Amino acid sequence: MTTTKACPVCGSQANAQQNYDSLCAFYVCPVCGRYEITYSSIELINDPKLQSFLFYNRFMDDSITEYRYHTTLSKEKCDEYKKDFEEGDITHGHPVHMDSDIIDNWYPKSFAERVDYIILYLSKRAKHIGQRVTLKVEELYGLLFIDRKEIDAFSRKMEPRQDFICLDEAGYMLNFLVEEGFITTDAKDGSIPSPVSILLTPKGYARVDALQKAVSCGSNALVAMKFGDETKPLREAIRKGIKDARYNAIFIDEVQHNDFITPELLKHIRDSKFVVVDLTHQNNGAYFEEGYAMGLGKPVIQLCKRHVQLHFDIAQKNTIIWDTEEDIPDRLTNRIKATID
Ligand SMILES: [Zn+2]
Repeated sequence: MTTTKACPVCGSQANAQQNYDSLCAFYVCPVCGRYEITYSSIELINDPKLQSFLFYNRFMDDSITEYRYHTTLSKEKCDEYKKDFEEGDITHGHPVHMDSDIIDNWYPKSFAERVDYIILYLSKRAKHIGQRVTLKVEELYGLLFIDRKEIDAFSRKMEPRQDFICLDEAGYMLNFLVEEGFITTDAKDGSIPSPVSILLTPKGYARVDALQKAVSCGSNALVAMKFGDETKPLREAIRKGIKDARYNAIFIDEVQHNDFITPELLKHIRDSKFVVVDLTHQNNGAYFEEGYAMGLGKPVIQLCKRHVQLHFDIAQKNTIIWDTEEDIPDRLTNRIKATID
């Protein structure tokens, strides 16, 4: 059954459904995309970072039917449903797990990083160079990382912040972007129309180019490896190592339907701060992704199980050699801290 309700994250009118699982609230929001909150993780709704996380990473039904959705269901449950999905049973769709650690690790860590996220988003959203991007005010809050909730000093509970304060902060951020010369907008002197229109300037596009070439943007790390049941412990060990270094691991099979090399995969590599490659299974995809990342000047961290013969070209590179999966998390975390941070 579908009803129209205010989205608990951004306040927009959204479709609320309960068809995937009765212990969850499933929303299709024009701002936050498709997401599901299980009642056991209901407090995540109060995380002020959730709004921007969903806005930037949303899954929307655009021209094709979208089966993916963000969910607080456990990682294990997501794996199970995803496997069903790949085998043709679409009852539970294609879940993409989220939790507060994943959101924290994705969230920009500095003001400068926020600016970079915003500019990159605008360049992706505009289909053509010079095209204006129009955003509803709820989208603008997500884009600009405006906290809509805060802990109330008296009640000590998470409470919504007043609209005029949020608008004021959005105006401050827009003003900054205009003054830096990255955008022009029809928002003026603290008055923000909804929808607001934003245009990246040539200077904004130059920044996009620099960011896409540079090594220093974002908190995502793409992981290239062989996917499958037999490599699950390896996947989780790599995930832990990246997460403990406060980055967000992207496994392409968790965000897209197939493991082929696609424009979306290449985009994930371009948007990653670094790439982690496990070469144990000698798979061509992993070699290709490593080469592509190196061509862009991205740092690459190699892993390989002991006694596996590496391809000569990359055997020279400093590689983390592991005996069992337990060796991986600490070594990987330390390597990231030493070479990326
Ligand atoms: Zn929403």
